[in-house]
Amino acid sequence: MAAAETDREAPSALCSEFLNFSAKDTAAKWLLASNLPKEVYQHLACYVPKIYCLGPNLNPQNEDLLAPLLLQSPLEWYLCGEEPSVGLAKLEQNNQPSQLCGHVFKVGEPTYSCRECAADPTCVLCMQCFLGSVHKEHRYRMTTSGGGGFCDCGDTEAWKKGPYCQKHEPNISDSSQKDPLANMTEEMIARTYNVFSIILKYAVDMLTWDKEDELPEGLEPPVRGDTYYCMLFNDEVHTYEQVIYTLQKAVNCTQKEAVSFATTVDRDGRKSVRFGDFQFCEQAKSVIVRNTSRQTKPLRVQVMHSSVVAHQCFALKALTWLGQIIRYSDALRRILCQVGLQRGPEGENSSLVDTLMLCDSKMWKGARNVYHQLFMSSLLMDSKYKKLFAIQFAKARMLITEENLMTTIIRTFVDHLRHRDLQGRFQFERYTAQQAFKFRRVQSLIGDLKYVLISRPTEWTDQLREKYLEGFDAFLELLKCMQGMDPVVRQVGQHIEMEPEWEAAFTLQMKLTHIISMMQEWCASDERVLIEAYKKCLSALTHCHSGFTDGEQPITLSMCGHSVETIRYCVSQEKVSIHLPVSRLLAGLHALLSTTEVAYRFPVQLPLSELSPPMLIEHPLRCLVLCAQVHAGMWRRNGFSLVNQIYYYHNVKCRVEMFDKDLIMLQAGASMMDPNHFLMIVLSRFELYHIFSSADCRKRYSRENAHKDVVQQNNTLTEEMLHLVIMIVGERYTAGVGQVESSDETRREIVHQLCIRPMAHSELVKALPENENKETGMERVIDSVALFKKPGVTGRGLYKLRPDCAKMFNLYFHHYSRADQSKAEEAQRRIKRQNGEDSVLPPPVLPRFCPLFASLVNILQCDVLLGILGAVLQWAMEPSGGHWSESMLQRVLHLIGMGLVEEQQHLIGSADDNDTNFNFTLKISRPGEAPANTPSILALLETLQNAPHLEVHKDMIRWILKTVANIKTTRECTASAPPSDSSGHSQEETVRDKDKAERKRKAEMARLRREKIMAQMSEMQRHFINENKELFQQSLEELDPSTSSTLEHSPSSCDSALVCVGPRRWRAGGSERRQMVTCILCQEEQEIRTDGKAMVLAAFVQRSTVMSKNRKRPPHNPDKYDPLFMHPDLSFGTHTGSCGHIMHSHCWQRYFEAVQAKEQRRQQRLRVHTSYDVENGEFLCPLCECLSNTVIPLLPLTKTSCSSEQPDLSQWLSITSQQMKALLSAHRKAADAEGVDAMDGVNDCPPPDGFKLDYTPKNPYSSTIKEMLTTFGTATYKVGLKVHPNEQDPRVPIMCWGSCAYTIQCIERLLVDEEKPLFGSLPCRQDDCLSSLTRFGSACWTVSSHTTVQNHFIRLLAALVPDPRVENTPCILDIDMFHLLVSLVLSHPAILCLDSSGLSADAAQLHFLHLVTVAHIVQILLTSVPEEMQMEQEGGGAEREEEENVCMLYNTLRTHLGSGLHEVSSGWHLWHCVKAGILPYLRAAALFFHYLNGAPAPPELHTLGAGEWEALCGYLCLPSNLLQLYYNNQELMEPLLQRWCSHPGVLRGLQSSVALIRFPRESNHLIELPGDYSALINQASSFTCPKSGGDKSRAPTLCLVCGAMLCSQSYCCQTELEGEDVGACTAHTFACGAGVGIFLRVRESQVLFLAGKTKGCFYAPPYLDDYGETDQGLRRGNPLHLCQERYRKVQKLWRQHSITEEIGHAQEANQTLVGIDWQHL
Ligand SMILES: [Zn+2]
Ligand SMILES: [Zn+2]
Ligand SMILES: [Zn+2]
Ligand SMILES: [Zn+2]
Ligand SMILES: [Zn+2]
Ligand SMILES: [Zn+2]
Ligand SMILES: [Zn+2]
Repeated sequence: MAAAETDREAPSALCSEFLNFSAKDTAAKWLLASNLPKEVYQHLACYVPKIYCLGPNLNPQNEDLLAPLLLQSPLEWYLCGEEPSVGLAKLEQNNQPSQLCGHVFKVGEPTYSCRECAADPTCVLCMQCFLGSVHKEHRYRMTTSGGGGFCDCGDTEAWKKGPYCQKHEPNISDSSQKDPLANMTEEMIARTYNVFSIILKYAVDMLTWDKEDELPEGLEPPVRGDTYYCMLFNDEVHTYEQVIYTLQKAVNCTQKEAVSFATTVDRDGRKSVRFGDFQFCEQAKSVIVRNTSRQTKPLRVQVMHSSVVAHQCFALKALTWLGQIIRYSDALRRILCQVGLQRGPEGENSSLVDTLMLCDSKMWKGARNVYHQLFMSSLLMDSKYKKLFAIQFAKARMLITEENLMTTIIRTFVDHLRHRDLQGRFQFERYTAQQAFKFRRVQSLIGDLKYVLISRPTEWTDQLREKYLEGFDAFLELLKCMQGMDPVVRQVGQHIEMEPEWEAAFTLQMKLTHIISMMQEWCASDERVLIEAYKKCLSALTHCHSGFTDGEQPITLSMCGHSVETIRYCVSQEKVSIHLPVSRLLAGLHALLSTTEVAYRFPVQLPLSELSPPMLIEHPLRCLVLCAQVHAGMWRRNGFSLVNQIYYYHNVKCRVEMFDKDLIMLQAGASMMDPNHFLMIVLSRFELYHIFSSADCRKRYSRENAHKDVVQQNNTLTEEMLHLVIMIVGERYTAGVGQVESSDETRREIVHQLCIRPMAHSELVKALPENENKETGMERVIDSVALFKKPGVTGRGLYKLRPDCAKMFNLYFHHYSRADQSKAEEAQRRIKRQNGEDSVLPPPVLPRFCPLFASLVNILQCDVLLGILGAVLQWAMEPSGGHWSESMLQRVLHLIGMGLVEEQQHLIGSADDNDTNFNFTLKISRPGEAPANTPSILALLETLQNAPHLEVHKDMIRWILKTVANIKTTRECTASAPPSDSSGHSQEETVRDKDKAERKRKAEMARLRREKIMAQMSEMQRHFINENKELFQQSLEELDPSTSSTLEHSPSSCDSALVCVGPRRWRAGGSERRQMVTCILCQEEQEIRTDGKAMVLAAFVQRSTVMSKNRKRPPHNPDKYDPLFMHPDLSFGTHTGSCGHIMHSHCWQRYFEAVQAKEQRRQQRLRVHTSYDVENGEFLCPLCECLSNTVIPLLPLTKTSCSSEQPDLSQWLSITSQQMKALLSAHRKAADAEGVDAMDGVNDCPPPDGFKLDYTPKNPYSSTIKEMLTTFGTATYKVGLKVHPNEQDPRVPIMCWGSCAYTIQCIERLLVDEEKPLFGSLPCRQDDCLSSLTRFGSACWTVSSHTTVQNHFIRLLAALVPDPRVENTPCILDIDMFHLLVSLVLSHPAILCLDSSGLSADAAQLHFLHLVTVAHIVQILLTSVPEEMQMEQEGGGAEREEEENVCMLYNTLRTHLGSGLHEVSSGWHLWHCVKAGILPYLRAAALFFHYLNGAPAPPELHTLGAGEWEALCGYLCLPSNLLQLYYNNQELMEPLLQRWCSHPGVLRGLQSSVALIRFPRESNHLIELPGDYSALINQASSFTCPKSGGDKSRAPTLCLVCGAMLCSQSYCCQTELEGEDVGACTAHTFACGAGVGIFLRVRESQVLFLAGKTKGCFYAPPYLDDYGETDQGLRRGNPLHLCQERYRKVQKLWRQHSITEEIGHAQEANQTLVGIDWQHL
């Protein structure tokens, strides 16, 4: 440590030496030097350690100042030969800017690739180039960069079209051809060359230097001190937490310092954690190593001499300097490229660039970043060297020919996988971590291979052919090692002991899938290559087969007069493998070969003669039989690994190069064989041969006594076998197999997906195989088969099948799973029925086979198949009993249908080709041959059509018979007759009848089910009524559940006018109706009574800033804050909401206790979190599971009578002020008595008549209600102030009144924002909540200290009627008037209860309303804005009076305040200001008095529109000219006005620079978002973490409330909040949203809701792609646009205070959300 202290003074000691330094002289000296490198090294050796690394901090400021002066400047002098600024400027003049954009991407920056024009998906544009390119109008993909890539704009090889954006378009032709060095003198070129080679060499040496205590030759420092750094390096093994913990121990630092160390290590790759002498550093190192070596390998730590570190620091600076200096001139850039790529003395791969790349993994991250940066600004910006550099890195055709890269990569790859079995196949043992790592290496090789293959050649040269085929050979070697790997043997008897490893092989297969496809595409582009590759592949396959044919004996199969030789082989007994890449590659090549011209014209020239069809089909067939047997349950004991393999075999990720190719191989083989032979071999491999070959197979089941399981098994196998035959004959949508194009294939896939149900774009994408460019080809065809339906506010856009495409539907589509198949069948039948059609689903018309496959159709009419079909039909004559299956019959009927459709097609086509020997109808009309004299298939069908047990198949049988009849007619009428439509109408009627019957039966079933349910329910009801008999009779006549609605619509009152406040207000008449409510917990009914059992509403109280007009105001100090007066900026409020569900208080208490107990038990057992925090009083509403944290008691309306004559305002004010005086002195006296010093000048004031100071009124409420009053009050206080509950605190009632006022204001705003009328549009739950909240407000004083409430009232009143005895009264500019009104009204009962003189509460309420309204008018006038222009003055005499009045009042104010107020000429404008400004207050007041006094609102307020003002004033008992309130009591008001204006705060407020709150306050809304999502990505990518010095933030997150961008989910920006470390978002919500936050995670395109420290959830973002889908995680990359509707929905959730509730619901629905550490976001 001591060393560190003294060294700090060193620089100043050297100062004079530095001042005398001359860069010019040094450069001059260098010019004369004979050994320049030595001279420069000497200079560096001398100065670098004097500038760098003199203290613990590696990057202090002065280094940045000294380095240019002492180190860079001489280099520049030398290079330019003159004053650098002059020389560089000259160079800059001749600079030709690069045509290449080369913009280097920052982490998270948006990148664009054109799906149509990019040469490959790695070609990308930066945002600027993209916006100026033609691709903007194309189908493009947007992604975010992982950092480090660069923009390919201007690279003609990267783009098929539009390589330049507007900015990079070359303006002078051939400018790039000119040699950039032409403008430079020979001497200068030489000097530049010298400097660049020395400096680049120096930098490379230093960055790849791995000695800790020595330096390269020539750089040894003249003086060597004992100063070292303990350098900690990044590794991927240790976690952040481990590193932090270790550092705290090792270098004895605080947690904060350790976090900062760890962050830097993570960011830069290394960080010095200690500076001092060797001993000192070594000690830290040993502690670190010791501490981290226990579990894994230790953290990497080095003790490095300061001079080594110093030179490394300067090496980085030097690279940056090189990058800067080449910007001046393309000539300098060219020289640097030459220097970098020049071969070193060690020969190949020894250039400086090579050295850097080879050492890449050894370097620390910071160094890597710097040199990558330099590469990108030099090599990649120079069109000549970009190509050279590409070779160094690896790319395309050139590489295959010149570097033979393909072979090299594949050989390396094969070498890496060393474990082989006896046949040389790969063997993967258990997937250990180490192997997985090795596998990753292998996978990166696959990546390299993909890179080489990604751009297919357009022209082939002989050399390229040769090299490619050489690579193809190597590739076959690789595939040969995979052919037959991981073989399985059926387990019988007992279960396998250990699941065999299978994933590695499949991972390999999956990774190779694209490579295999690309290999085939390359072959397809050249016929010669294709034929050669085919031959090679065939010989590879033959080689594979020779290895494992031992032990297979030949046998002879014969059936239906045919016989064939084959081998004896049972899948169920011998080894079988699912991995057959060689066979499958051959299958792919075979199909490709079939598309060539040779195949059409001269098939004999193809290398087909060497093929042995039985050999071709053998292994693919085994594989398909294996699947069938697994399906039939024969392989159950082989465990899950086999099930998984079968799954992946068919899965969209693998099937293209697995299942699909096996099918093609079977098709290829079968097309070259006698179909009878083929089928017999198939039967034999399915182990069904013995069944179908026996002479009396048609009678098989009547006598068979086989085990039931075996019968079942054979049934399934038969079904699978029939399905396979259907596929072999019917799957023709692969180019080469059938006469189709690849788009037909895609179209058909989509049709079959949409036959299941309408699907979203992303679902379709998932169901289609992607090529290496992640394209499915869907966009080209989707519109021809589907209609797009846009999404609503939720859900996503859906594609629906075009009705005319349904005819393509094939029930036995080969990519359907069984589940898909049955769903599709059901859906298609339903649609047909809905359209009133026959629900039969006949096989579709298929495209024609290609010539090589054409003979496949003969399978349909071959004897063996007909024999099989006949047998099954014969079995079906008897009701099943398990001896045959419905599916089996259905498949047989489908095959017969296929035969008929094929025949029809042949008949149509017979005109132009003579292939009419397909006569299926003839074949099925013949009697069976093998067992002689059996009925023909047709005869069987005719019999079956009337079999009662075949109801389900009848329509298909009928369709077949009808089609047969049609075909016969066609044949008879010769070729002249047109073929008839396959779906006839002759039997339509019977079908309809059948349908009707079916529907009737279903309806009957449904009715019975309903009746059963009803019976159950009425039983329950009866039970319930019996139990609650009394209650039931009582309440039968008033079953109205809503408490409020009963009151609202029964106007009976003293006065007929609907007035809600004042002595004339509406009153519930003598027939005041009882309020009955039902407890949701015990179902008992209960009357709301003052003295009854307490009923409560579940409620949720939360702090809110939704209405805040000042988000900068810091949160109040909860212990000191005095909430009595709400500031008009409404910065923090307390909102109360409720789901509206009512319970007995005791029922609720019992429920809550149970929840608590459950939670305690749960916590003891396992540390699971819940979505609610019980310790904080939270629970879920027992009925709707809405998050709640307290309950509000329900109270009846307070009874008041129409009282006698009441004092007017001035009389009332004087009485009240007397009362106040008396109270004040009484309170002071009491305080005095308790020993507090009496204040001066307080006289004894006698109370006015009937005012009893010492009176304590009786509390009217029952004990349970009192308890609930306290409960809710305390909860509001606790939550609203964020303090511990304390029911004695004087602020409890204030918080309650405040919550009442704030909630009403919120709802008033919400109604305005949603354009709903003030009354009648609120949902019941809000209605109930507001009414109970206001009534609670008027009662809460009864459970507080009366003196406290009285004191509050005195202070509140003093704000309106200034009283010298009351101190700290805010000025009227600083008071929210509605809060004041509510608090006055709700606290007044504490005064009134002392009065016995007959003063009424109603009169007082009206007086308060008048006073506050006048004060608010004054407030509005004071803060009004001068009119901007002369507005058109409309409105005649009616408004004149108001305008004059308001002008007079304003001028009065000006006389009091003078220049503080601007001049105003237009009364119209002022009146307009007042009216608009006061409206929200009046509306809120109307709501308040409505709920307080129960007066129904006039009809005008139930609708929107004109007349609101008058109706409001009438309802509130106010004159519609509000100014009359002032002028009618002018003598009283005038002095008040004067006193308000004389408050020093007013003048201060008017003059202060801080913006005044003006009225009306506008509703807050969420920030505006850009229409295009990439604008946000761009904004986020330039956002840097505010704490780690210009570093990119990993999870930039946007606050949607205030627009702040935050560095979320990162250690760097964690702060401490209430003693806990929290992430930037949580910390931000604390101030911005009082704990609630709405964010957009920009990288993820995800909305984040946060509440408190523990709650959060993700929410769908308001950005959609053109398919109406969101892209959470930005995986799809489609352009995203703002959906205003969805954004408004988020905003509404926020304005309604429903965010917390939304989180609660999300967490209840998805428990994994509960476990997330939201506070760290
Ligand atoms: Zn660009
Ligand atoms: Zn560009
Ligand atoms: Zn394009
Ligand atoms: Zn109850
Ligand atoms: Zn509820
Ligand atoms: Zn914010
Ligand atoms: Zn940060």
